[in-house]
Amino acid sequence: MIPGIRLVLLGKQGAGKGTQCVRLARHYVVSHVSTGDIFRAAVRSESELGKKVKHYLDSGDLVPDEVTLAIVGERLNHPDTQSRGFILDGFPRSVNQAKLLGELLDPVNLDMVIDLHIPTEEALGRLNGRRVCSTCGAIYHVSKPPKYDWNCDNCGGEVVQRDDDTDDAIRRRLQLYEAETAPLIDYYFERGMLVTVDGLGSTDEVAERLTEAVDRHRERGGR
Ligand code: AMP
Repeated sequence: MIPGIRLVLLGKQGAGKGTQCVRLARHYVVSHVSTGDIFRAAVRSESELGKKVKHYLDSGDLVPDEVTLAIVGERLNHPDTQSRGFILDGFPRSVNQAKLLGELLDPVNLDMVIDLHIPTEEALGRLNGRRVCSTCGAIYHVSKPPKYDWNCDNCGGEVVQRDDDTDDAIRRRLQLYEAETAPLIDYYFERGMLVTVDGLGSTDEVAERLTEAVDRHRERGGR
């Protein structure tokens, strides 16, 4: 079987991380761990965690580190992530979270970090038109809706606009990305762990670029 991987996918909101993480997770047979998906599921089910994080998600602000770290720590302790690895999507989101992740994984480390890069203009266009399946999380765009009346092509669920894909929350999230998450690119670059991949193009083209980037990194001595 193909070797597993411990990978972080960085990128602005709208870069296509969610879609590409699903593909990568299937390709490398590892779990896709998305903190945003975990928080949204908690809000939907009105669990204690959901009640705690709802207002952060609605406003586009970051959930406090101790809450986020507890969720990630628990997930990375499962047998699947321990044995095969994982693809982290939406975490870490700040240099502080990257340091906490390093401590959590010690003595092992990440295999690599990919920055899926798109220009801010493109991100804005994608986020404004983005629609998601409320059941399975599949992602659509108003320019390419599901076949039947906003019902998901995969599962038939209702396809809607995310609560935080409003103008104000989008602006807030992109601001936070520049302030908190963009410095992570330098952080991982300085440690020789970062590879940048162009996020423009079709889903298939970007998926191919990503697997090529991973395979090249491995050939050069990564895991
Ligand atoms: P995402 O789907 O990654 O855009 O995340 C949606 C929302 O979940 C964010 O706007 C934050 O409110 C919260 N969130 C997700 N990941 C993190 C994280 N690593 N740290 C803090 N908040 C997060």
